[in-house]
Amino acid sequence: MASPHLDDPYYCVALVFTLFMCDRCREYLLGDAQSGESYGPGDDWYHRFGEFARRAGWHAETVSVPNDSTKWLVLCPTCAAKPRHAEPGTASDSGA
Ligand SMILES: [Zn+2]
Repeated sequence: MASPHLDDPYYCVALVFTLFMCDRCREYLLGDAQSGESYGPGDDWYHRFGEFARRAGWHAETVSVPNDSTKWLVLCPTCAAKPRHAEPGTASDSGA
């Protein structure tokens, strides 16, 4: 079986989407264009791309959705540094 090693959300996002796009601001990170590496087919390019995104400060997190497929939360370095519950579009958090 050619099952890839996908227990890391960074690798999943790299492999499934071939780019990292921020769920907040739509900033994106392209693999070969921005890392200066070329990712050939059959290579473990998504490992290297995932590590590149991690080093660049991106956030990737597996989000399990009941009765749905697996999703991933992706945040650019800017948005990852902000308090997540203060961002619009997340579950209501009125603070109290
Ligand atoms: Zn962002």
